[in-house]
Amino acid sequence: MYIRSPLRATCDCVGDGKFKLSIAVDVRFVVSYSTPANRMHEMEHVGVALDYLGRAKPSWQKFEKTYSSLTECDYYRQKYVTGFPNSGRIPDLRQEIDRTVDVINSQQRTVDDFFQNIGHGRWPW
Ligand SMILES: [Zn+2]
Repeated sequence: MYIRSPLRATCDCVGDGKFKLSIAVDVRFVVSYSTPANRMHEMEHVGVALDYLGRAKPSWQKFEKTYSSLTECDYYRQKYVTGFPNSGRIPDLRQEIDRTVDVINSQQRTVDDFFQNIGHGRWPW
């Protein structure tokens, strides 16, 4: 299993000349399996990942702010989400999501360790 997370963001007029940065994070799990048992195992991984994504969401939502001009909103849209053209700088939200995915990936190993431990009879039952 692996995670793809393309990002989109728009600056939407909310009246009074103000613009709100709206962000869409499209998280996709790519799961490959060969048997029903294998599929069940992979879905354990997805379950663990969903749990973490749910907990990470508030730290992503903090980037959705309202700005006093379109220029300002657009600046932060690039800083936080899409990046500045040719800057090579990783946008703040992308950094945040990459960190979350790192945590999720390390948690995935606990799913595998759990099954492995059962397989090797290392559990006390
Ligand atoms: Zn596994």
